[in-house]
Amino acid sequence: MRLYPAILGIAVSAALLVPPGSATAEPAEPPHPAVRDFGNGPERNEVAAGVVEGQQAQKLRLAPEAEPYGLSRDRGYPRQTQLPIPVENPADASIKLGLVPYHGIAPKLNDLQRRSDRVSAEIIGRTHQGRDLYLVTLTAPESRGQAAEQSVIRDRIENDPAGAARDRRLAARYKAPIFVNANIHGNEWEGTDAALRTIEELATSTDPQVADLMKRTRLYFNITANPDGRVNGVRQNGAGFDMNRDFVTASQPEVRAMRQVMIDTQPVAMIDLHGYVNGTLIEPTTPPHGANYEYDVFIKNTYANGLGMEAAVNGLGYTPAKDGVEPAQIPFRDSAEGWDDWPPIFTPQYAPFHGTVAAHTVEIPLRVNNADYNLPVEELRRRSAINTDVAAAAIRATYGFVQSKHDALIADQIEVFRRGAAGEPSKVVPLGIVPGFGPEDVYNTTFPRAYVITGQRSATAAARLVDHLIANDVRVERATRPFRLNGRTYPAGSYVVDMRQPKRGLANVMLEPGEDISPRVDAMYDISGWSHGLLWGATVDSVPSGPLHVSSEPVKAAAPTGSVPRTPGPLALKVTDAKEVQALNDLLTQGVAVTWTNDGRAIVPAAARQAAATVSDRYGVAFTPAGPATGTPLAPVRIAAAASADELFTLREMGFTVTPVSTAVLNAGFDWSGADVLYVSSGLSYAVLNPAARTALDAFLATGGVITRGGTGAAFNAAAGLLTATAVAGRGDANGVVRVTSPAGPVGGGSPEHSFVYSPRWFTALGAEVTVEQSYATDGPLVSGHWRPNAADGTGGPDAARGQAAVVSGRDERGAAVVLFGTEPMFRNHPKGLFPQVARALYWSAAVTGATVTTP
Ligand SMILES: [Zn+2]
Repeated sequence: MRLYPAILGIAVSAALLVPPGSATAEPAEPPHPAVRDFGNGPERNEVAAGVVEGQQAQKLRLAPEAEPYGLSRDRGYPRQTQLPIPVENPADASIKLGLVPYHGIAPKLNDLQRRSDRVSAEIIGRTHQGRDLYLVTLTAPESRGQAAEQSVIRDRIENDPAGAARDRRLAARYKAPIFVNANIHGNEWEGTDAALRTIEELATSTDPQVADLMKRTRLYFNITANPDGRVNGVRQNGAGFDMNRDFVTASQPEVRAMRQVMIDTQPVAMIDLHGYVNGTLIEPTTPPHGANYEYDVFIKNTYANGLGMEAAVNGLGYTPAKDGVEPAQIPFRDSAEGWDDWPPIFTPQYAPFHGTVAAHTVEIPLRVNNADYNLPVEELRRRSAINTDVAAAAIRATYGFVQSKHDALIADQIEVFRRGAAGEPSKVVPLGIVPGFGPEDVYNTTFPRAYVITGQRSATAAARLVDHLIANDVRVERATRPFRLNGRTYPAGSYVVDMRQPKRGLANVMLEPGEDISPRVDAMYDISGWSHGLLWGATVDSVPSGPLHVSSEPVKAAAPTGSVPRTPGPLALKVTDAKEVQALNDLLTQGVAVTWTNDGRAIVPAAARQAAATVSDRYGVAFTPAGPATGTPLAPVRIAAAASADELFTLREMGFTVTPVSTAVLNAGFDWSGADVLYVSSGLSYAVLNPAARTALDAFLATGGVITRGGTGAAFNAAAGLLTATAVAGRGDANGVVRVTSPAGPVGGGSPEHSFVYSPRWFTALGAEVTVEQSYATDGPLVSGHWRPNAADGTGGPDAARGQAAVVSGRDERGAAVVLFGTEPMFRNHPKGLFPQVARALYWSAAVTGATVTTP
């Protein structure tokens, strides 16, 4: 499930119902969205990644460096791929539920391909732990030429929507694409089994209605979006990521595979199968609604298909009394707020940017995961069988909906792209467009004429952002000559995003600052603020209006950014981007004698010029002549980290050596000789350490560094007696993009003007040894997101944070170099522009105790 909003009161009471055959009541749901994710505290990201680490050991094979997957445009159907059969795994968590284990999927698909010419299976990627991802296409056979024609029409819908809208014959020739995504949360299993059942039924049916469906649609099934989680019986993938939060970032290979499917197939309708909410939860959602959708088109179709799915699910005949199954619910209709479609981090909230005009999360009803997984096998299988029926009913209703509204849905998809290409203003949805659509449902944005992306702050960051946009099928141009726009002059090579393009909604949802929606709603389901424009480290200017006279060419990939100066002598690498961190860590691993300066630069000796040239090319980083510089020698920084999975992932991605630790690990006896810096954000409590562990840690603190984040980190700082600072907590569910100011300190200096917070903190009553590295701005500080004061006493709001210290550094009396973060710079691997701040904290902390050396 998307996890539970308590506001949906209907479901809470239903969940407490005891079904027949069960001795245990359903556990009560958490009381507030802020605590819904985790049981051990009011803060997100407080779960240590120890469990995931254990699973890393089971890694099957290395994930590929490149991802050469993608659907062929011109091969006919069926494609008859002989899928490799995975090794049988008797520990697969699906088996207990009577469901198909991961290793059973490929044999089944191979068999179905033999039995039916309607079934094609393809491998579309590989998971973090190395398992194949399967896409099944179900459609009537197509010659190579017929398949190519479908591609041509699909391209025309996207690239010439005005022409496509005028073409009266187009819809009759086009097979409407439908996307069924299953099991993105690994321990919400039955979508996979329902997909396989549906494929089998449709593949072998002789019903003329089915033959008609096969002729007029293509059904695409991502059989399991999360094989790692399915096998391991957990929500996350093998890297510990919740992939239904990753669509704006696409940090995980499984998410990149789903993204590519949506780009390549351009579905008119999609459903994302989850569990467990009783009665079955079927979107559309409550407000706030994402402001970058063509929401009139979206709500009309999404509500219609939602009602159809509801009828199909209720029509199965399961009852509360007999089966413990409550009637279905539709948040848009049945709840005021708490299950929203504001952030495009979820699959059905991402798909509409690629033309999906009916997109749904569906939560099947009966819990079989977490604590319920320990129920008797019989009861689990009873529940899973019902869940599979419900998921299959949702799929059946959706393809029936597309079959009956075929031409209209294609026309609506064309209309979405047409408005984008024409640059029409964000349309205000008429009240009552569907029953219940009121003023509280109206959200709009202002599309600028263009965005200009430059390397003014960081060329590597600009290149990363451009490549990310292109990977999302957003069009980007590169200026071939200098130009003036909106009163500014830009050099040749600057990137321009012309907002008159079919997928302008996706471009804008990433590049715009976002909106402070605190005044409009009290409870949000998940994050409320994000912005690639403000948080990814590139310089992004918005051009509100006016003519766009720029001589430019389309970009397939950002231009190379690496360089090494010709002049002899030592070289400097300024660490303002994660790519520079990667390059520096690469050099350190090679044994290059790098020194770290207090202004955030790495000095590479002239003798290591060749190594510098290599990493410059590898990571696209630019070296400059060093000049005279003073610094301390730097060795590879080895981190002991009590951190969440996304932080471990991000630290490793930057090339640091990370050893996960926790209270339990330290209490069992930890060898500190392999660690230079301790990172603490979750899973470590100084107060709970046994005397031996505390003695060992204290000894480490005499020479090592400490970086902390969040509530757990602040508590550690206080308990361990590190820096003199009082941590003040903002409201626990507050999150978003904040404006910050950073003096020229070793950590904050050179940071972007914005940061990201979730459960923000600030530091007061600072001791003389403490330096403020970054402060919340005195205006705002919230730029976009949701941050209200605590309802009870008015504390913890953004006003209280104004001008307060967000990041501080200092050396405690034992000598430990310490940095405290009240912001969240590595959140879900998203705010790329903030990662180097953490890296600078680590380098400074590791280097500050070293001897000073001077480079001539
Ligand atoms: Zn889910």
